[in-house]
Amino acid sequence: MATAKELRRWDNAHVWHPFTPMEEYRREDTPIIRAAEGFHLIDVEGRRYLDGISSLWCNVHGHRVPEIDAAVRGQLNRVAHSTLLGLANEPSILLARELVRRAPEGLTKVFYSDSGATAVEVALKLAFQYQQQRPDRSTRDDRDLYLTVGGAYHGDTIGTVSVGGIDLFHAAYGPLLFRTVRVPSPGSYRVPAGMTREEYQQFCLRELEHAVRRHAHRAVAFVIEPLVQGAAGILVHPPGYLRAVRDLTLEYDIPLIADEVAVGFGRTGTLFACEQEQVVPDFLCLAKGLTGGYLPVAATLTTDRIFDAFLGPPEAGRTFFHGHTYTGNPLGCAAALASLELFDRNRVLENVARLSRRLAERLAELADHPHVGDIRQKGIMVGIELVADRETQQAFAPARRTGHRVTLAARRRGVIVRPLGDVVVLMPAPAMPVELLDRLCDVVFEAIDEACREG
Ligand SMILES: *Cc1c(COP(=O)(O)O)cnc(C)c1O
Repeated sequence: MATAKELRRWDNAHVWHPFTPMEEYRREDTPIIRAAEGFHLIDVEGRRYLDGISSLWCNVHGHRVPEIDAAVRGQLNRVAHSTLLGLANEPSILLARELVRRAPEGLTKVFYSDSGATAVEVALKLAFQYQQQRPDRSTRDDRDLYLTVGGAYHGDTIGTVSVGGIDLFHAAYGPLLFRTVRVPSPGSYRVPAGMTREEYQQFCLRELEHAVRRHAHRAVAFVIEPLVQGAAGILVHPPGYLRAVRDLTLEYDIPLIADEVAVGFGRTGTLFACEQEQVVPDFLCLAKGLTGGYLPVAATLTTDRIFDAFLGPPEAGRTFFHGHTYTGNPLGCAAALASLELFDRNRVLENVARLSRRLAERLAELADHPHVGDIRQKGIMVGIELVADRETQQAFAPARRTGHRVTLAARRRGVIVRPLGDVVVLMPAPAMPVELLDRLCDVVFEAIDEACREG
């Protein structure tokens, strides 16, 4: 086996890490993970770390879960991969049926892919082609723009970057992107001068209505992260916002794309976030937690109405010509089936309710912290926004990398977290025991103190 030292050298020599300033990365002793046990990761030097971000928001039941391991091994004894292009495979059929059974009523069709970005990209393309093939299309119909929410994150392919709104990630690609109209995010921490938060949220509803009415005739679809905008900094929308988006998009007949890549599979308290406002979207995009955080499988669910617009003889040219090589991968689908079964058997959503309550109690300890500007929580998704001055909402200097300091301070104490800028993110796995959640809070709160105190 390679030594820790060799691995570090080769990592620095060859691996380009995503979303990572690589010059600084090479100066830091980042843990190299070799194994895991339950909710802990273990590095090549044998150090154990509590996984405080569900291995980037995807792990559900912990690591090396006997039931999921067995399902993947069992599938391995049958076949690891076979294509869905012109063939079918057993686990992908069983999983599609199970997803349809659990998703909001009316989502009956499942298109597989392999990441959150592709799940959304598929929905963007399906919606676009649907608009050209819809049976009631008028000849003057010319739809070329998407409605999106400010600060949105839907992935890193060019299509999903187009509907994204995080300048730090997206600004560089401006010339490559297609047209969108953004409505302001009702979850923003900083609101325009002279407005209270409530006034700002009312303003957002008016802007939403205005944008939908004004652009209805050119809108391909409305894309939204339901209830919580993840990468924007865990921005929690006020109750009723998603419902308002659905009502308006129904009124103006604009397909709604719900990107539940982050919020799906229990993180907001229900299996899917849309359930909380009785919303049935036209497209439901799933990835991260779908396989329990085991394998890259994604799914885009849609309705008969959309699906039917793609039917007809092959020469009619209505086919959806899109697909990824590993679409419907049997190993991944087997893991997903096992994960869904565990949701029932282990009553995972009841655990999420317990964790949510405990988190709310623990977060209250930070209410008077001089450097905690805002605490946002929905279910077990948490964003703690650190600021230089909580009265003026003055941010820390970016070069200080306060959020990153929290990561380093937590890591020294045996906990893995990853912030979004200066927003400290807590994303415990839905099945994490409450005792471990307490440890996560203890360590992260200490790390916040340390990171804000240093010069
Ligand atoms: C992570 C994320 C994506 C992208 O998923 P990948 O698997 O990284 O491509 C898309 N949408 C949301 C809301 C996400 O949080």
